[in-house]
Amino acid sequence: MKGFRYLKDVATLSLDRTACVGCGMCVTVCPHRIFGLRDQKAEITDFDACMECGACARNCPVDAINVTPGVGCASYIMTVWLSRITGRPVTSDCC
Ligand code: SF4
Ligand code: SF4
Repeated sequence: MKGFRYLKDVATLSLDRTACVGCGMCVTVCPHRIFGLRDQKAEITDFDACMECGACARNCPVDAINVTPGVGCASYIMTVWLSRITGRPVTSDCC
């Protein structure tokens, strides 16, 4: 799914590289190939393709990944909804 775009800058995904032990599980399980390995540590290479499924965080053995499934998406939907009520513009790079 390389090239997939979800919503820009709304994902709740975060990575603690200092805690990472470089097992590569996040690289393997992420359906959108968001992680890579550099210097035996995971790194986020395609943040905006994250769909907040939570698979990476569930499979990380040292809890180095944090993501709240669906929150960024829900937040974005609320923002769009509010913008329609208030008349304030919202921009989107949604898929
Ligand atoms: S939450 Fe899902 S899509 Fe996002 S980085 Fe983790 S595995 Fe990939
Ligand atoms: S699953 Fe966790 S420990 Fe393994 S490479 Fe990814 S962030 Fe690092």
